[in-house]
Amino acid sequence: MNRKHFLKISSLGLSALTIDKVNAFSVAPNMPIVISTWDSGMAVNEAAWTVLEKGGRALDAIEKGAISIENKIDCCVGLGGYPDRDGIVTLDACVMDEHSNCGAVAGLEDIKHPISVARKVMENTPHVLLVGNGAQQFALENGFGKEPKVLSKDAQKAYEEWLKKNDYKPEVNIENKKVFGGPFAPAFFDDGTPNHDTMGLLAMDKKGNMSGGVTTSGMAFKVHGRVGDSPVIGAGLFVDNEIGCATSSGVGEEVIRICGTHLVVEFMRQGYSPENACRKAVERIVNRDKVKAKTLQVGFLAMNKKGEHGAYAIQKGFVYSLKTATENNIVAAKYNIG
Ligand code: ASP
Repeated sequence: MNRKHFLKISSLGLSALTIDKVNAFSVAPNMPIVISTWDSGMAVNEAAWTVLEKGGRALDAIEKGAISIENKIDCCVGLGGYPDRDGIVTLDACVMDEHSNCGAVAGLEDIKHPISVARKVMENTPHVLLVGNGAQQFALENGFGKEPKVLSKDAQKAYEEWLKKNDYKPEVNIENKKVFGGPFAPAFFDDGTPNHDTMGLLAMDKKGNMSGGVTTSGMAFKVHGRVGDSPVIGAGLFVDNEIGCATSSGVGEEVIRICGTHLVVEFMRQGYSPENACRKAVERIVNRDKVKAKTLQVGFLAMNKKGEHGAYAIQKGFVYSLKTATENNIVAAKYNIG
């Protein structure tokens, strides 16, 4: 919305909600498009784009993008990610397509591409979510190789550091703060790297169909067996091809408690812009417990059917990566608590 239009509407005394509704679905389609959480999403978007630019399906783009980061040594995704408190890397992933088909795996060990296993769950079983040993058995039966159980050098170093203090705190990726201790993990390690950056991707292809995917090693140093929001449909990912799609990163328990991404999509259904839908979901978390919220980070990222996109976080520091035919940027999310 341009400033002139805003002033005109403001002068009529209409609320921000009304403004959203005035503008909902009134802009030209912006497709294909891929957006993904964090700045690590730039490389992921590039991989996804190779599918989208050729007119490929959004779901294939999502899988390709996610595989590209699962192949890397990354703190927060894939077998190179940080382990749980017992020193074991467990992976969570999910996909959801334009037909509301979905599949997910949680607590998956020793398999390199959880995103592809999640897709197989969606396409080859009547189920949505497989966990732990059962997920691994399914992966092996479907031709995925078993990788050796070794920590990456980075993960080993971070784990050894963490063991020295061995305390938990549910604070993740809050910019400019180094917080140690508490129920989960430090927000940042000594060298300034964040403790967690789940990869959530949302794409719309040339046909206007949307899909999404999430892949993560989960919260660093979590309790063994803990599952966050990322593989939970409606929490870490939700796609409604009529309306829009959303994904999340941050303290997964907070997202699960409000069925976060489903809520974001429902707000878009009511006419809110993607950014305002994300803001409303963040407010739901913050308003539950304003004091606790100061110690938490959650960021939501969303896109609507017209390819409009936006994000909102509890704290400063959440960013997302955007790629279209004309844009290739990192976008900083607005936030609730300064
Ligand atoms: N949401 C993830 C989890 O709770 C963590 C993250 O986004 O970094 O496992």
